[in-house]
Amino acid sequence: MTTAIETRNLTKRYGNATAVQDVTLVIPHGELFGLFGANGAGKSTLIRMLTTLLAPTHGDARVNGFDIVQAADAVRASVGLVFSNEHSFYGRLTGRENLNFFAALQNVPRQLIRARVDELLEMFTLTRYADAMFQTYSTGMRQKLNVARALLHDPPILFLDEPTKGMDLQTADTVRALLKEEIVARQHKTVFLTTHDLYEMETLCDRIGVLAHGEMRAFGRPRDLLEQARRRTWYEIELAQPLADAAILETVRGIRAVRARDTRIEIEIDADDFSEKSLWDVIYGSGGQIRKFGPHADGLRALLRDAADDTRVV
Ligand code: ADP
Repeated sequence: MTTAIETRNLTKRYGNATAVQDVTLVIPHGELFGLFGANGAGKSTLIRMLTTLLAPTHGDARVNGFDIVQAADAVRASVGLVFSNEHSFYGRLTGRENLNFFAALQNVPRQLIRARVDELLEMFTLTRYADAMFQTYSTGMRQKLNVARALLHDPPILFLDEPTKGMDLQTADTVRALLKEEIVARQHKTVFLTTHDLYEMETLCDRIGVLAHGEMRAFGRPRDLLEQARRRTWYEIELAQPLADAAILETVRGIRAVRARDTRIEIEIDADDFSEKSLWDVIYGSGGQIRKFGPHADGLRALLRDAADDTRVV
């Protein structure tokens, strides 16, 4: 059994700027995966590489078992791609006519088009409006038709770039339910979506990745990441003078990581195992003087805040 998506050190540079840096991930078939990150984090670039629209600078990836460079045609046949704010539908054609047109464009065999279009209209509860002109559709109906179009050739993997962006709450919930219950649970397809929305990430996704400045900063089940974050806390210490050897702090029980820069030291602690006193002992023991000490922010939230500029608070 192949995995749905597998990348190794996938990297994209535009000139000197790195948009995606050494992303390595595995997403099994039948998973709803959410990629989280601020504007400019590299989400679209990653999706464009995985759907063959953009060639990687370095690294490689397989989608549905096919190499994105060597077997680009097979990759394209394996994926559906949905961008939000799609403007390519024809306003004066009906919903059904639009789907017929794009099905022909995507080489869906002629004799299958009618049944497939009917099936998708039904799946997305658009049958009642199938013969109304697209320009009369509401935003929610347009977005549903947009997702339906990506499924015309029945691909096993669906990519969606911010599928609920700009939607009212009810429409967003309808689209989420369709993805989770119909596309993933019932049809066992794999969904890879990008989101800005912490609520969406926690409630909808089986696993999430957090992309910041092109790098995958966290990857896992939302519950596990939150649990890790609860147990791990960053502290900031400001000293009067730099320590001669800040690495000595790594020997303190409960300290998992140390980042020292001049007189400022950040430590990551495991809350279940850490006592401040043993930290003081080591700092005073090596001649340090503490000016300030305090919690930084807990791990995941700090990570997400870094990765996102306009998130809702969990
Ligand atoms: P996101 O989808 O997370 O908003 P993008 O993948 O669109 O992020 O962009 C990642 C980075 O790459 C940004 O810094 C962006 O400015 C840069 N970038 C994207 N496309 C191009 C391009 N065609 N040429 C140069 N830089 C680009």
